[in-house]
Amino acid sequence: MVFTQVDTAQKRLDDHLPYAGEAAVADVRRLAQALLGARVLHVSSTPYGGGVAELLHTIVPLMRDAGLDAQWFVLDGAPLEFFEVTKRIHNTLQGMEDALTPEEWTLYGDVNRSLAAVFPEGPWDFVVIHDPQPLLAGAMARGSAAAGGEAEGARWFWRCHIDLSTPLESTWQRLHPLVNQYDGAIVTSCEYAREEIAIPIAQITPSIDPTSPKNLPLDRGRARAVLSEFGVDPDRPLLVQVSRFDPWKDPFGVIDAFRIVKADYPVVQLALVGSIALDDPEGVRLLDDLKQAAGGNPDAHVLSNQDGVHAAEVAAFQQEADVVIQKSVREGFGLTITEGMWKARPVVAGQATGCRLQIEDGRSGYLIGSTEECAARIVQILSDPGLGQALGHEARETVRRRFLSTAHVARYLSLFSQGSGRKQEA
Ligand code: UDP
Repeated sequence: MVFTQVDTAQKRLDDHLPYAGEAAVADVRRLAQALLGARVLHVSSTPYGGGVAELLHTIVPLMRDAGLDAQWFVLDGAPLEFFEVTKRIHNTLQGMEDALTPEEWTLYGDVNRSLAAVFPEGPWDFVVIHDPQPLLAGAMARGSAAAGGEAEGARWFWRCHIDLSTPLESTWQRLHPLVNQYDGAIVTSCEYAREEIAIPIAQITPSIDPTSPKNLPLDRGRARAVLSEFGVDPDRPLLVQVSRFDPWKDPFGVIDAFRIVKADYPVVQLALVGSIALDDPEGVRLLDDLKQAAGGNPDAHVLSNQDGVHAAEVAAFQQEADVVIQKSVREGFGLTITEGMWKARPVVAGQATGCRLQIEDGRSGYLIGSTEECAARIVQILSDPGLGQALGHEARETVRRRFLSTAHVARYLSLFSQGSGRKQEA
């Protein structure tokens, strides 16, 4: 087992000017002045699949362009069972009643101990450990680095992308003492910050990269051709949910809502688009079940990276959707929502905290509490094109102001340059 460095593409802050504006880019450059050459290490679980990887592919190179020495390492060679365990840790942190066995905790500990022994060599000025998979390895590496007298003033952060508001007690009791070995915690919403976290807490919301192929406008003809390729009729209304195949995203609820809408709008189609992440064996099982659930209806399409749906295809589905759905029950943030909003689509999303962070109900999308409500909002939007346009317009403006990569990098830099107080907004 090793850590492997992710070779990110080069990105330039200047390329963000047309989208984020001069003030946002100048802000990053101003904050970077005090941090030029700082060695920043990000550690996460996988190089592809899921929101964390998506984020790091942009913010790491943008930090570099701003003048910091930012690097990103991922776990390499950990056994599949480890990812089964960390998926359960993820699920139980979000409240699932599925306590881990002592043997599973032992596996988590053993893998992390091995990883700590091969932790990327410093000295680092700032270390950001993402999510629970490498949490213990980071805590251990920090301990030994401190013992070795490394990088005086180095600050180690645990960056939690998960909704921590209702964790399963047995999991949280194991993890929070590890979190408290860091210098600071970073959460997506202060609503997730638990009392047991005794270290300073900063709130940083994630972002999307307006220059990435996923978020640039696609030629309409090309986008429509992509839909046709996957059996979707580009001339009929289309509902789209893009997400990992994960129960928290409520994909079965999406199929139920689709069936209700279909009663009013027989021409409507659904595309459930998802990828199977490397660290997500549960997703494989869920994909099979979903294909079965949708099986009876030729207008319900369940598509994954195994069918050849990659970033460009995801972008086409999002752009051409009449309604973007994100029916999550729990959602740390939900980049798929941000992506739909940036494409000026009306988004109908669950009441999860991450969705509420982004959507102002009735203004920049709709928040729904049930399948019936979800279907009713979709019908409302499909019957009133002006409504969909107005929601989409507000949605795009919201993302431009608050959720582009430049603002995200600025929040990190601002955290790095402060002595952080408890529950501050970075
Ligand atoms: N994504 C993708 N292909 C898929 C499903 C998801 O490229 O089939 C991307 C999606 O566009 C988004 C990210 O993966 O950028 C998912 O991030 P999000 O925060 O929505 O959810 P997470 O997977 O982190 O829970």
